[in-house]
Amino acid sequence: MHNGIFTVDGHADILYRMGEEKLSFYDADSVLHQSYSHLRASGVDLQVFVTFVMPNVTPSEQLYQVLASLHRFTTQVERVGAVRRITTVQQLDEQVLKPDGSIGALLSLEGADALNGQIAVLHALFGLGVRLIGLTWNGANCVADGVGESRGAGLTQFGRDVVSTMQELGMVVDVSHLAARGVWDVLDMTHKPVIASHSNAQAVHLHQRNLTDDQIRAIAQTGGVVGATFVPAFIGSETPLTSDHLLKHIDHLLSVAGENGVALGSDFDGIEKTLADLRSGEDYPRLYDLLEARFGANTFAKMAGGNLLRVLRAILPTT
Ligand SMILES: [Zn+2]
Repeated sequence: MHNGIFTVDGHADILYRMGEEKLSFYDADSVLHQSYSHLRASGVDLQVFVTFVMPNVTPSEQLYQVLASLHRFTTQVERVGAVRRITTVQQLDEQVLKPDGSIGALLSLEGADALNGQIAVLHALFGLGVRLIGLTWNGANCVADGVGESRGAGLTQFGRDVVSTMQELGMVVDVSHLAARGVWDVLDMTHKPVIASHSNAQAVHLHQRNLTDDQIRAIAQTGGVVGATFVPAFIGSETPLTSDHLLKHIDHLLSVAGENGVALGSDFDGIEKTLADLRSGEDYPRLYDLLEARFGANTFAKMAGGNLLRVLRAILPTT
């Protein structure tokens, strides 16, 4: 909570970095950006935990690593009274009331490579509690092309099946990393809110991972959100980069998407370099104070958590 506001971070690679660097989530001196102690200090009430796998392995190895990452969550992160997995609207509503002071966790997959063209794998991952999927990372996979794939193709037929099955099951479709054509394919076929969990605005800083105004507007029109992200390369080319530069993106996102269409997705633990004054979850409260002072309590409450809560309530299974 920050000044009584329920807050959500839509993207962090804690599980990936724990695996790569053999880091402990509960180590009080952990260098993780969002270790338990940093997450506690951040005021984030609901953290999206991403399972990310480097794309240089086969799809079956991807699936193995995704399962290992989910197991890491279950055995090393999930803990009674500390971190609680959210898979339904009922659990979400309970979490907002904070019966035990725990932090909520939503499991997400970044890049659908592990599906390997099998819709059964999607159903299985749903069964394991995954509730959000970023369809691609930067390369191409069985679902679509990412922004780094020069072909720039949209959704495959399998990708269309994935999007419609996700929406039937109650999973959030995330278009961050997707090539432009895929973003439009998703927006054309969706009947639920769509999100871009960690992307900024191309109009402020031209980068392939940022979104055009048309994309930002169209995502907001689905009832979805764009999660402003703390990745320095997407924010600008000045040095040092600080949260003042991030605020330019947030200003712009608000002007295009409106106050109901903006959220936050830090990408903590997915980035090597951070903003000079946003180095870990511990710096979140300062950003929250800046946002509240600049945009007022109402808009701040929506941006910091209310908008993503609304999206999750519209999409997750009820019970
Ligand atoms: Zn990412």
